[in-house]
Amino acid sequence: MALSLDPRRRMVRRQIAGRGVGDLRVLAAMEKVPREAFLPDALREFAYEDTPLPIEEGQTMSQPYIVARMADAAHIGPGDKVLEIGAGSGYAAAVLSELAERVFTIERHPALADLARARLEQLGYRNVDVRTGDGTLGWPEQAPFDAIIATAGGPRVPDSLRGQLSVGGRLVMPVGPTRSAQMLIRLTRTGPETWHQEGIEDVRFVPLIGEEGWTEDEARDRPARPTPLGLPQLVRAGEQALPDLGDPEFGGLFDRYGDRKVVLLGEASHGTSEFYRARAAITRRLIERHGFSFVAVEADWPEAAGIDRYVRHLPTRSGTPIALHRFPTWLWRNTDVAAFADWLRRHNATLPAERRAAFFGLDIYSPSDSIAAVLAYLDKVDPAAAKVARERYGCLTPWQHDPTVYGRAVLSERYRECEAEMVANLQDLLGKRLQYAARDGEQFFDAAQNARLVASAARYYRALYYGNAESWNLRDRHMFDTLTRLFEHRGSAAKGVVWAHNSHIGDARFTDMGRVRGELNLGELVRRRFADDAALIGFGTHSGTVAAASDWDGPMEVKEVRPSRVDSVERQFHDAGVPQAVLYLDTPGELRRRLRAPRLERFIGVIYRPESELQSHYAEVELPGQFDAFVWFDRTTAVTPLPTSQRTDAPGTWPFGL
Ligand code: SAM
Repeated sequence: MALSLDPRRRMVRRQIAGRGVGDLRVLAAMEKVPREAFLPDALREFAYEDTPLPIEEGQTMSQPYIVARMADAAHIGPGDKVLEIGAGSGYAAAVLSELAERVFTIERHPALADLARARLEQLGYRNVDVRTGDGTLGWPEQAPFDAIIATAGGPRVPDSLRGQLSVGGRLVMPVGPTRSAQMLIRLTRTGPETWHQEGIEDVRFVPLIGEEGWTEDEARDRPARPTPLGLPQLVRAGEQALPDLGDPEFGGLFDRYGDRKVVLLGEASHGTSEFYRARAAITRRLIERHGFSFVAVEADWPEAAGIDRYVRHLPTRSGTPIALHRFPTWLWRNTDVAAFADWLRRHNATLPAERRAAFFGLDIYSPSDSIAAVLAYLDKVDPAAAKVARERYGCLTPWQHDPTVYGRAVLSERYRECEAEMVANLQDLLGKRLQYAARDGEQFFDAAQNARLVASAARYYRALYYGNAESWNLRDRHMFDTLTRLFEHRGSAAKGVVWAHNSHIGDARFTDMGRVRGELNLGELVRRRFADDAALIGFGTHSGTVAAASDWDGPMEVKEVRPSRVDSVERQFHDAGVPQAVLYLDTPGELRRRLRAPRLERFIGVIYRPESELQSHYAEVELPGQFDAFVWFDRTTAVTPLPTSQRTDAPGTWPFGL
């Protein structure tokens, strides 16, 4: 993702344009003024955070978005004369001076006024006058003004300010009858004695203290600093606390999705125990109470087939390798997956074969295991066809064991021919569908799925070499096609659960993936196909530990997860203060509206690089579009991998080699 913008440009793109301020002059002014130059030294590093900041005299510099929003609402033209009430640091005055011809600004604290004047002068702003005084009375000598902006909240619009607006002039100010909340309003003077007032949005500002504002006494019992956006409080009011993971009622909070055809459960990392355990608890509930009959996970088809045979009490298949020992081993070879597989096996034990819940893999990484599975199948059912298929698959031999490192080979003509041979094998197999399936439909389906995987993988690895969005799209399309085929194979009434990373199951159209990189994903394709019959549930965390590698094929490490960034989705949940909770995002209202503003979200895969976390792991999302619900664990722990040294194919120790 492109995060190389300088912080000020990023602030403008994310916090301001991203929240709907579209006036190009305002965006340009915000991009020009150095906010850090108006801050005390110790706070400069936070200049482009999405927050108000404390300045001298116990006052605040407004959040950048609010400065832009007010300037935007005041419709300031290049020839305008503007009055600001509450110079504070002088920052907003500098932004206004980029937009207007002249700016007059009043500050009641003399020390602040002096500082603001000095900073503006030093930065070369010659069209701003600063004075100390009570701004509720305006600046009559300079009236009328084309625009007036008050950056402190009063009980009403001061009459003096109304009177100093030119006809057609706009006044923008926070107004509220109580001191705990205000509405940002715009008052337009429509004639000598007429004004028109509109509400813009809920805000919280420091008090406007003066003759036509609050008295000092009235102002004293309100906090000296504005509280932030208040989003964490809204999250807290909206979310449902979740009981312990072991509590049978945990899954009950997801009963509302029981009538969906497909429920997609995400994860914010590939190595977090709570995400696995929560998905297991929800899935158990969906299987036990709501008739879901399969789980499809982000593992390869043949890998998952080993677990499937275990949970459905099917015989071990000799000669089919169980691939859970490949990097990243901890992904599926961990104690949480083993516990879930044991539960599913127990659950299935009392059921007739056709009602047993199954476990499938959707992914595309291991053509070599799939090739072996197809050949083993054909050896059994059609040795002549096996011979042809073996020759064709031989074409992939140089690459099949580690396709990610075969480099320029994919560019060769030979490789392209290979792709055609993979497809020919699949077509041959499908051409004999009736003949083969008559022997054992389930085994035929398995072999055909493996042949499809090999054909898709050949294309996937070529696209991967070019490193464009197409490889990602091929992989997610393959996952979606596999899921669709599972529904076809298991009958029209079948209901399934999917376990995959948030990046696969959150609708890509509401993230940088879809918006910036042209990528689609499983969640998007599922939503397009199943609409309200699908539920997309994301997961997140603030801090803790995670199992991950530092490089591809590197050893698993237990790494500390850095606390989430202040401008992230996760930080809103952390600040809400509930240790584990679910927030349903499909209910309309203020919270959903506020969460729609783009924020960063953290994505940790099998590799975690805390040292370059922003560039490597954060992307911008619009949470309520991405997911139908978000499951929160404030602190999380790394998964516990199963030992890898033991044989994975020994009878009696299957499917995990334990
Ligand atoms: N625009 C400022 C900036 O960019 O830093 C932020 C202003 S701060 C949110 C509000 C300011 O209004 C405070 O500095 C406060 O002292 C000032 N203020 C409050 N009542 C005032 C009044 N009656 N006249 C002038 N200034 C006032």
